[in-house]
Amino acid sequence: MPLVNCPLCENQVSHRAQACPSCGEPDPNRYHTRNCWLGRLFWLCVWSGIIAASWLWVAPWLMNQFTS
Ligand SMILES: [Zn+2]
Repeated sequence: MPLVNCPLCENQVSHRAQACPSCGEPDPNRYHTRNCWLGRLFWLCVWSGIIAASWLWVAPWLMNQFTS
């Protein structure tokens, strides 16, 4: 059974637990999932920003290379 760390007391909680058995934090798993989802969204934004920036920088440079 997969275990996750409780966000409050850092205790190992079952993936299917509805609440942390040691501190009573309700639904520690959902907190974890939401954190993961936010992290993914954050990295998606970072990477699309990097890609967009590099395109904005590379595209004019490439145009210069081909036209000159
Ligand atoms: Zn806890």
